[in-house]
Amino acid sequence: MQIVDSHCHINFEPLAGDFPGLLNRASEKQVTHMLCVSVNLEDFPQVLNLAHEHENIFASVGVHPCYTECEDPSTARLVALAEDPKIIAIGETGLDYFRNEGDLSWQRERFVRHIEAAKITGKPLIIHTREAADDTMLTLKNEDAESAGGVMHCFAEDWGVAEKALDIGFYISFSGIITFKSAEQLREVARKVPLDRMLVETDSPYLAPVPMRGKTNEPSYVRHTAEFLAGLRGMSLEQMAEITTENFFNLFSGAVKPAG
Ligand SMILES: [Zn+2]
Ligand SMILES: [Zn+2]
Repeated sequence: MQIVDSHCHINFEPLAGDFPGLLNRASEKQVTHMLCVSVNLEDFPQVLNLAHEHENIFASVGVHPCYTECEDPSTARLVALAEDPKIIAIGETGLDYFRNEGDLSWQRERFVRHIEAAKITGKPLIIHTREAADDTMLTLKNEDAESAGGVMHCFAEDWGVAEKALDIGFYISFSGIITFKSAEQLREVARKVPLDRMLVETDSPYLAPVPMRGKTNEPSYVRHTAEFLAGLRGMSLEQMAEITTENFFNLFSGAVKPAG
């Protein structure tokens, strides 16, 4: 069995401080691959290093919508950084009206540059959206993000938003949120998303799934999310692992699929 953690921040503390332990625990739980997602360019060299040092770790390049005190890259800069073969995606990018206030046109402009970079490089987008679903989906549509493809990471929106994402060919990634007691609406969505469009992720070190809730999340815990999702869809963990792993390598075609 192989499970992929499609979105983690293993360069963040406290995860980075116990890296060998983290990798061991992941491999014990058959979490064989992970995508370490960039949130700014200042930390990007670290993220890229992890991907270079470990065959089973992939990376993305991008600047998260919530980061304000950092380099705000041009499209050309993103394209240049994405040239490395271990960079398999652009992001995380998107819109977040929860943590930022005031005139957020800078956030939308940054988002558009990321979409342009994805279209130029052919590397799919990792989309973060929070309290900004309408603008996020409209921007993806208007900027023809469909031609680059991508994933709605840590999905926590309703079925209407999921449908819009599916309509433009995007994948939906479920995190530990799906296991939370309060997430019944999200579970409704997860029961309906086509099986060939689902991914699983930790978004670690945040959002540890039940029964690890409250602990520091890490890639090995994605197994709990996959198991929970399997239960929702009436299948075994092994089947869900196979489906979501297949989906991961279909979406991120730059990631070299393991043999066997
Ligand atoms: Zn995010
Ligand atoms: Zn993230």
